[in-house]
Amino acid sequence: MADESIFSKIIRKEIPAEIVYQDDLVTAFRDIHPLAPTHILIVPNKEIATVNDTTEADEAALGRMFTVAAKIARQEGVAESGYRLIVNCGKHGGQEVMHIHMHLLGGKALGPMLSRK
Ligand code: AMP
Repeated sequence: MADESIFSKIIRKEIPAEIVYQDDLVTAFRDIHPLAPTHILIVPNKEIATVNDTTEADEAALGRMFTVAAKIARQEGVAESGYRLIVNCGKHGGQEVMHIHMHLLGGKALGPMLSRK
């Protein structure tokens, strides 16, 4: 598949990534350009381009992304100090990879969600 996302290749272990969790619905791996001490991407194994492309059939995988986020936050030792979950969508959302992914960021105080400048 020529237009397959790079994340699908990571899920199938065809290209390297530091996978920290994988099950039948989702895969989580470290972001290649971390923006915080903990920066992990949680993705559905099924390639769904953006939040706009989700359907009710995807709810199990989308819900699993949250429970896996909580599990990984505990594994990474950031559950108590807190962390941020981000899902970018489309051009104005700053989405670069067209395969839904949840960023889990933590390990330092992240500041305000958006700059007011
Ligand atoms: P977004 O801007 O929300 O689409 O975020 C895409 C994220 O994917 C960025 O934080 C990238 O650093 C990350 N990324 C891109 N390619 C890879 C890769 N091969 N392995 C791990 N993370 C990646």
